[in-house]
Amino acid sequence: SLINMSSRDKPNIMITGTPGTGKTSLCEQLARETGFRHINVGDWVKEKSLHSGWDDDFECFVLDDDKVCDALEELVEEGGCIVDHHGCDMFPERWFDLVIVLQTDNSTLFDRLQRRGYSQKKIQENVECEIMMVVAEEARESYKEEIVKLLPSNTSEDLERNLQQLVDWIRANT
Ligand code: ADP
Ligand code: MN
Repeated sequence: SLINMSSRDKPNIMITGTPGTGKTSLCEQLARETGFRHINVGDWVKEKSLHSGWDDDFECFVLDDDKVCDALEELVEEGGCIVDHHGCDMFPERWFDLVIVLQTDNSTLFDRLQRRGYSQKKIQENVECEIMMVVAEEARESYKEEIVKLLPSNTSEDLERNLQQLVDWIRANT
């Protein structure tokens, strides 16, 4: 059921999950099939400097949550956006009609992050984050239970199924 859509014609979807779970792969295909706009938050942060510097310890930019939300607000409030980010508690609850948390088995995630060239420390941190279900917990705490869905993202069959499910959902809700 769409509970946040009173002010927009098209829904917004949040795609979240630990780095390497397949968010961007899914979002790119979903955007291509539906014409919805893929917003890769990490790219926006880099391109528009929506951060307060580089964190050497965590090897990532320190996001400025207010700057990020201000930059995206106008676009997202129009509807028809797919927001791709490894966290989801920084965004206003009203933005999303569906929140997808992608989940990947430890060894599969480890291999993907290694292929990405991450340091052992960063791989370890992200695999632990996945084991502890940090992002799923964050999603459950930040959004209504009925709009949060956890989807497995291990194989190309998973990707196909998740894609089809979301295409169907968008068609049913547009
Ligand atoms: P994220 O955006 O969450 O960091 P990516 O979409 O960049 O993740 O995917 C990380 C890697 O895993 C890429 O090499 C991608 O091709 C691969 N991948 C993503 N989803 C799947 C899947 N469902 N099955 C197999 N490989 C996948
Ligand atoms: Mn990505």
